[in-house]
Amino acid sequence: MLNFDLAANQNATNQGNCEFPEAILPRDSFVSRHLGPDRNEVHEMLQVLGFSTLDELIESTIPASIRFQGSLNLPEATSEYAALTQLKEIAAQNLVYKSFIGMGYYDCLTPPVIQRNILENPGWYTAYTPYQAEVAQGRLEALLNFQTMIIDLTGLEIANASLLDEATAAAEAMSMSYAVAKSKANAFFVADDCHPQIIEVVKTRAQSLGIEVIMGSHQSFDFQPPIFGALLQYPATDGAIYDYREFVKKAHQVEAVVTVAADLLSLALLVPPGEFGADIAVGSTQRFGVPLGYGGPHAAYFATREAYKRQIPGRIVGISKDKTGKPALRLALQTREQHIRRDRATSNICTAQVLLAVIASMYAVYHGAEGIQKIARKVHNLTVILAAGLQRLGYKTNDTPIFDTLRVETNQAQAILAATEQEKINLRLFDNTALGISLDETTAVEDILKLWQIFAGKEELPFTVAEIAASTQFNFESPFARSSKYLKDAVFNRYHSETELLRYLHQLQAKDLSLTTSMIPLGSCTMKLNATAEMVPITWAEFSKIHPFVPLNQTQGYQKLFQQLETWLAEITGFDAISLQPNAGSQGEYTGLKVICKYHQSRGEKQRNICLIPESAHGTNPASAVMCGLKVVAVKCNQRGDIDLADLKAKTAKHSEKLAALMVTYPSTHGVFEEQIQLICEIIHNHGGQVYLDGANMNAQVGLCRPGDYGADVCHLNLHKTFCIPHGGGGPGMGPVGVKAHLKPFLPGNSVVNLGGKDSIGAVAAAPWGSASILPISWMYIVLMGAKGLTEATKIAILNANYLAHRLDSYYPVLFKGKSGLVAHECIIDLRPLKKQANIEVDDIAKRLMDYGFHAPTVSWPVAGTMMIEPTESESLAELERFCQAMMAIRKEIDDLATGKADLENNLLKNAPHTAETLICSEWNYPYSREEAAYPAPWTKEYKFWCPVGRIDNAFGDRNLVCSCQGMEAYQE
Ligand SMILES: *Cc1c(COP(=O)(O)O)cnc(C)c1O
Repeated sequence: MLNFDLAANQNATNQGNCEFPEAILPRDSFVSRHLGPDRNEVHEMLQVLGFSTLDELIESTIPASIRFQGSLNLPEATSEYAALTQLKEIAAQNLVYKSFIGMGYYDCLTPPVIQRNILENPGWYTAYTPYQAEVAQGRLEALLNFQTMIIDLTGLEIANASLLDEATAAAEAMSMSYAVAKSKANAFFVADDCHPQIIEVVKTRAQSLGIEVIMGSHQSFDFQPPIFGALLQYPATDGAIYDYREFVKKAHQVEAVVTVAADLLSLALLVPPGEFGADIAVGSTQRFGVPLGYGGPHAAYFATREAYKRQIPGRIVGISKDKTGKPALRLALQTREQHIRRDRATSNICTAQVLLAVIASMYAVYHGAEGIQKIARKVHNLTVILAAGLQRLGYKTNDTPIFDTLRVETNQAQAILAATEQEKINLRLFDNTALGISLDETTAVEDILKLWQIFAGKEELPFTVAEIAASTQFNFESPFARSSKYLKDAVFNRYHSETELLRYLHQLQAKDLSLTTSMIPLGSCTMKLNATAEMVPITWAEFSKIHPFVPLNQTQGYQKLFQQLETWLAEITGFDAISLQPNAGSQGEYTGLKVICKYHQSRGEKQRNICLIPESAHGTNPASAVMCGLKVVAVKCNQRGDIDLADLKAKTAKHSEKLAALMVTYPSTHGVFEEQIQLICEIIHNHGGQVYLDGANMNAQVGLCRPGDYGADVCHLNLHKTFCIPHGGGGPGMGPVGVKAHLKPFLPGNSVVNLGGKDSIGAVAAAPWGSASILPISWMYIVLMGAKGLTEATKIAILNANYLAHRLDSYYPVLFKGKSGLVAHECIIDLRPLKKQANIEVDDIAKRLMDYGFHAPTVSWPVAGTMMIEPTESESLAELERFCQAMMAIRKEIDDLATGKADLENNLLKNAPHTAETLICSEWNYPYSREEAAYPAPWTKEYKFWCPVGRIDNAFGDRNLVCSCQGMEAYQE
């Protein structure tokens, strides 16, 4: 408490100091560390823009009519030390018990070398999604390892690079089955011994697609009514292992597609789904070294047959080659994805779980096939011993083979639970006649003894572990025992000493450009500071070692954190309620639209199924609308980039009866605060529609305007953009939704922990509060910044963007500006004329930026042939200038092409990025010097980021699709 008070005092002085007209906090506060520019730099930049104060700039940027007039009711800013102390007190209210609950979540041991060098390493967690593959070879290799691991363990042919969680992966499998199955049936069979949270998420998803879910026993199902697909759990939720071959055969006879949700560790010993005929395997990779985290984040996997490669949801890493023929990795088959296919995309997944997939893959690299098998054997053997002992004590357990989970019949369930609670142990309660016990990597013989003792009651144990073990049969027999090998590739057998692994991790990290190298000015993605103090709590045991389905009285700390975060986010957005369940922006969109649909239904307006979406919308918007069973109608944008009001009015009137919602991004994806946003919301409301606001651009609004005030009914937030959760190289993320009071009854629920009311849309993610263990990051950010600091951050984000726009405008015209010639927190520069002038495409500039040590801005979205630049508030003037210098120097290189000074085909841009390998070799046949190629700017001589590969040939990789390490080795030959 003492520390806490000291910090509070220090705080008070901070506030005393900060009575500057623009409230810029002094250098000793966290706020000043979060913000890039200092006070002098702010003034310098304002001068360049022709403003005398920051507020003047803001007033000219944001329409007065929507400005938030009050001040946000949030805690006062505090120091890192005080915030951590405060959070530690909250964390201490969580009780870390041993959980044997199972249901797809297991305690595990994160190898310390992986925890420190990946999970806690900004070189890995601050990277962006690997769209610019030349500066992302490290994590692409880790993801290729992940895919290889999944392909090997599931026995299937192709795997993606992660999905959000096991339950949503199962829902994606259902959607894919619907698309690919030859059967034209409309029903999907779900075995009633799947994990309950998976069943729930699948049901929510099926409902809007008009799919009938048939629940039943896979042992007795007679394939009537006809189905297009089926979902089985392997092992089943109660631990039972079945031979599914007969089921699969019958399903295939009726041309249905079979998905098996399989426990990855069990596949080290059991015949994998691919070998018993399954078409799709999904599951969680959590127990491969990723902390429980009260539900997430964890990487789900998705594997299937090669034949379905074009229908797979999520991202796939594939091998291709660079300009010199060297093997190089990149994202394959992107034409399936929402950012290209929009309402015809295979799914709406954008942010996935890259960081967690990397950790899981490294767990396999660390242990190798032998190590993984040993862990699986240990878990299995202990479970078998536990079962035998319980039987000796008179309990009935599964009569099928088991892997790690037992169903123990007892009429004393509640009494036993009371006893386990005394011992700080959680078991699963099936119903009042059975308990579930799932063991994991961390289980020890002492745990078995303790469990036996609890089940034995007061009696002394009539046997020893050794006695039981001696009379127990451990090995799986036919048809269950796995005989095929896995994880044979060199990568899984090479790095078993810690020194070797450390170097491998570092080598991969060094191939990637993250925020530790330079700014990543990705429009719409808000790559701001992920402060170390914000990251520290996520690995505290009080947050990381908690199973999502423990009794709520063990998670009072988490509950308090959720409640505070919900209150603050509601305050910031102007909404009445928040759901923390959706695991990414895309899932927030899906959730918000489901909520809207349910609202219309509740008012007897089921026919409302039209969703208006401006042309400029992010690809996830139309893809999410389709997932909700909505019909997408595009709304035009005018020359200025604003929504075309006449078109909006016409389409609203035309579809008035059936209008469900408008999805609108604000400020628009064109980087401006549209003046007419209130009017737009009004028009939609007048026709009975609801307004869904894509809140990905909330970083331009916090403290200055609130979606709930100017007319939105629902909005998602990307906590991994505005609220400092790092991008993790393509995930994790969090996409909570805020709603107005009339929509609150429909927010997502979770039946396992009894969350959500009777009108809830159901579950949209496996865990009740999504990826709970990363919420402390956003909590820390808000507590560290306070209302003033957050507002200041927004203003500086707008200042930085306008400064960049101003500096670059005469080199590359800024495409869209608001009324006063200003942009919001990002700007789009138009590169289209350069094609004609100098044969230069957006990609050439993106790749040449790598030679200067930068990650390209967002390319060709939302307008083809442009770049969208978002500097965020965290970049200093020096860094902005460095980026401008690079862009200007590139412009000069382009001018040399336009004037004929340089060759239109063979030049610095077309050949970028330049690798050390091509530069430092005896041959040099280029019409420019090596120095111009490698050291185009002074800072590159101080510190040079070298691309490990040259420009990658995407088309070649898609034509010759190879998505596992086996391919990598073949390429190298
Ligand atoms: C990032 C983004 C999304 C998608 O969010 P994910 O978390 O990646 O699913 C949606 N809309 C816009 C405008 C975005 O920038």
